[in-house]
Amino acid sequence: TRGGVLATATGPGMTSDGHAVALLANVGGPRDLAAAVEFGAEGVGLYRTEFLFLDRETAPTEEEQEAAYREVMSAFPDRPVVVRVLDAGADKPLAFLPPTGTEPNPALGERGIRILRIFPDVMLGQLHALARAAEATSARLQVMAPMVASAEEATWFAGACRAAGIPSAGIMIEIPAAALRAADLAPAVDFFSVGTNDLAQYAFAADREVAALSDYQDPWQPVMLDLVASAASAGVPCGVCGEAGSDPALACVLAGLGVTSLSMGAPAIPWVRAALARHTLAQCRAAAADARAATTAEAARAAARAHLPGLA
Ligand code: PEP
Ligand code: MG
Repeated sequence: TRGGVLATATGPGMTSDGHAVALLANVGGPRDLAAAVEFGAEGVGLYRTEFLFLDRETAPTEEEQEAAYREVMSAFPDRPVVVRVLDAGADKPLAFLPPTGTEPNPALGERGIRILRIFPDVMLGQLHALARAAEATSARLQVMAPMVASAEEATWFAGACRAAGIPSAGIMIEIPAAALRAADLAPAVDFFSVGTNDLAQYAFAADREVAALSDYQDPWQPVMLDLVASAASAGVPCGVCGEAGSDPALACVLAGLGVTSLSMGAPAIPWVRAALARHTLAQCRAAAADARAATTAEAARAAARAHLPGLA
């Protein structure tokens, strides 16, 4: 057991009264598929494509990429597979994407969609390989961009996806500006996926790589719940793919905030499935409301727990 609940082995994610919350896996490539299938993922919620590009002098060819994408999509016939285009930058440097300057603060520099706009051919190669892989499998391909800050960036990315024949285009919500004004970005895209790791880093101005600052990464911080609530109420389906979704109690709170899917490292899926199955949507909503009303992460946790007796 974990937190007093037994893991539930199979079935789609849903509350005890039948409100669906898809439980998806975070993967870095084909080697993570066996675990995703074993733990009953309903699809892939975050395929980090960086791993295909790391430690090489040249970008992988479109054929090479198509083979990797096809392998991931083949594991989930008729299921959603959410692929994130390259999230590179001075914090994750790649030999074939030369730095355009020196950056004293790489996390605040030309990373994510910002660098893809400087080198659009890298992204277009990915989109073409993805579109071809999607034609060869029955997975429901969704493609999203990292580090989007504005409606203008969202519109640019969705336009490129549409031109490449990608059926569904979304953006990660991991910058506070995008979370707070999510309603401005929503009309440009088909879905959102909240990246709580970077969202916490930027909300607290606290480097996620610095261990001494790890308290700022606590996704129970009430401001994090406010930012997620803003994204989840903007009118497009909104998943969470950062670490937050793998905490069973917080998963219930996120469902209560209106989040429609949770993506996580596959081993956490059975625990989250069990936690959702033990509570009604009304309980999740009450937990979310009282957690947001708290003023510290600890108080938010305690307030949510009081509405989630199945986790006692
Ligand atoms: C995030 O920022 O929460 C996220 C899911 O992306 P990554 O951890 O790859 O930056
Ligand atoms: Mg991120």
